[in-house]
Parts: sequence; structure tokens; C-alpha cells
Amino acid sequence: MKRLSQLLDLFFPNVCIVCKEKLTNNHCICQKCLNKLVLLDKKKCFFCGESPAKYGLCEHCKKELHFDGLVSSYKFDNIIQLLIHNLKYNEYMKIGKLLGELLANRLSKYEFISDIDFIIPVPLHKVKERERGFNQSYIISKEISNILKIPLGKNIIKRSKYTKTQTKLTKEEREKNVGDAFEIKYPELVKEKIFLIVDDVITTGSTMKSMASLLKEIGARRIYASSIARA
Ligand SMILES: [Zn+2]
Ligand SMILES: [Zn+2]
Repeated sequence: MKRLSQLLDLFFPNVCIVCKEKLTNNHCICQKCLNKLVLLDKKKCFFCGESPAKYGLCEHCKKELHFDGLVSSYKFDNIIQLLIHNLKYNEYMKIGKLLGELLANRLSKYEFISDIDFIIPVPLHKVKERERGFNQSYIISKEISNILKIPLGKNIIKRSKYTKTQTKLTKEEREKNVGDAFEIKYPELVKEKIFLIVDDVITTGSTMKSMASLLKEIGARRIYASSIARA
């Protein structure tokens, strides 16, 4: 076995995806690069980055997004971008686990965490999930669910519409695009419940906002959102 792993090491050296140095840990990134990640300031609103916040949101953004709270870990810089890019396209389960661990650690500092009934990963449309082979938000959510011992509500909400890639759309176009993209599969599991929606990056917030509005319409009590990074 030892010889096999040495051989594998020769052809597929275990290197950091950022600096390409040989790795001594079991992740895809070295500790030095990991330490360079910029944690967002907990005292300020994670969404606008300006006003003081309770549960990660200022009053204005709270109204705008329909969330009761938001927790984001890191500033979206080139290291986070590389991690998320590799998570999406190179099927690095290891990165998903690492990101889940980092976000779980951040979330555990908030008292509302003990109220959460279900964690919901932002779903992908089934065609997109088949193309990619997995849903990155699900991998992150699963790790958070394991660490914080909160059930995962994977199939409660489904993406019913195949939405176009959002990157080139304006804020208004994005909101229209995702407006009726979701469908609640188990409304009886939603009533009076408290949810945590998880995504890799929050940009305009329109996807998670659309999910939050729908869950609240069905009778959810509170909705919290979280992401690895705020772009
Ligand atoms: Zn490195
Ligand atoms: Zn704000």
C-alpha cells in the first residue's frame, strides 16, 4: 500500500490549489493560504457591509431580503474564488467538506442556531445537477448538518424552473428570473418551522430571498441564510 501511495504521489502530487506547494494536510489548500482568508466583520451587516447588525443584518437589509438573519464567513477574494471554482468544476468533495466545516464553526457562535429545525441547501435544477454531478450547496450543508447535529431538509424545496445563468443579469432581471423558480414539496414540514438556507456565495441575494419568501408564505416561522462568502 505504501508503495502505491508513493507512486500516486509521484503522478498526482497532493498540492495546494492556491500556491501549488506540496500539502502536509488532507485538504486541498495549505494552512498558510487558509490563514490568508479574510473573515468578515461580525459586528457589521454581512450584506451591505456598512450598518451595525443584529444576527448579521441591519434593519434595512433584513426587510429587503426577508431573512431573520444572515451569516457569511469570508470576503470573496481570489482564494475563496479558487476554492469555490474547484468545488464546482473539479468535483473536489474535500473542498466542500472543508468549507462546510469553516461555515459550521462560524454559525456555532450564534445562539439562533439551536432553534433551527432544518438546514436547506439551495437546490439546483435536476438537469443542472445531473450535468454537474452534484450540488455544491448540498455538500457544504451536509457537513454543517453533521457537525451541528441539525437535520438536513434536502427535498423540502425544489427548483421547478430551469433558470438561466445569473452572472450577466441585473438585480431586477435576477429577481424576475428566480421569482417562481421554486416549489415546496412538503408544505406540512414547513409550517411553524425555522430554517437555515445554505449557499456557497451570496451575491444579490435574490435566490435565497425568493426561497425565504416562499417558505414564509407557506407558514415558516423564521428563515436564516448563510454562505461561505459575500461577493
Ligand atoms: Zn497554499
Ligand atoms: Zn445591511
